[in-house]
Amino acid sequence: MHGALRDGQENAIIWHLLRLALPAQARFWLRTVHSHRRLIARGRFNLGHCVICERRTMFVWKESYLRNHYQCVRCGSLPRWRAVIHVLNRCYPDWRGLHIFESSPGGTGSEKLKAECARYVPSHFWPNRELGTVFEGIRCEDLTRLTYPDETFDLVVTQDVLEHVFHPERAFSEVARILRPGGGHVFTVPLFRGRKTLVRAEMTPAGLHHLAPPDYHGNPISHEGTLVVTEWGDELIDFIRYHSHLDTDVYDIQDRLGLDGQFRDVFVSRKPAR
Ligand SMILES: [Zn+2]
Repeated sequence: MHGALRDGQENAIIWHLLRLALPAQARFWLRTVHSHRRLIARGRFNLGHCVICERRTMFVWKESYLRNHYQCVRCGSLPRWRAVIHVLNRCYPDWRGLHIFESSPGGTGSEKLKAECARYVPSHFWPNRELGTVFEGIRCEDLTRLTYPDETFDLVVTQDVLEHVFHPERAFSEVARILRPGGGHVFTVPLFRGRKTLVRAEMTPAGLHHLAPPDYHGNPISHEGTLVVTEWGDELIDFIRYHSHLDTDVYDIQDRLGLDGQFRDVFVSRKPAR
């Protein structure tokens, strides 16, 4: 029956048997190297540790805009999601046991919070639903008029949300209100260093008014994307202090182990303990 095997088939069978004999870790790396061979050949990879899947991994990038393309091959995470988890691990190492509220979750960082923190509460804003009601396990909340009592949460997380909110002064003030003393608001927004804050749109009694050409970012619950309202510049920290009385630290962490790319700042606004 020797002739029954066509050219190459014999090699394929040997290769398959060899792979079965390898431990799972070796199989993972073989598969990874094979499926990303073009990026590896172009030097668009590095090895490291992912704080989201908590494994040794490879990071690859298809395009040079690392913020949207520098992915963990295991969990698909992006740098800003890893940066938030990194800062949580560093500033609030017991976050898994804390009461966490996240507005407009999205990405593998939010999935990790949901999976590992028992008291994690996600919310989205649906304009046609009543605030404070729960739809498919997610609460409807408007960040500028939250329905929670004062001092409800240990941590509030917002990831790339506060550049899309009309009246962000109300949002920062509301976040501070629902934080317990000693709590913190951990968040990302694109920060344009060395530039003044640019307000691109405003909501007036007459409706939406564009002050700059409309710019949209991806939105997990809407195909249309979300309008960018504010491009935050150097006044951000003062703005937060003025409207929420909270002091904010900026963490800009860069390493070639997966924390790189544009706009990778993570902000932590802390409510003083009593
Ligand atoms: Zn990962």
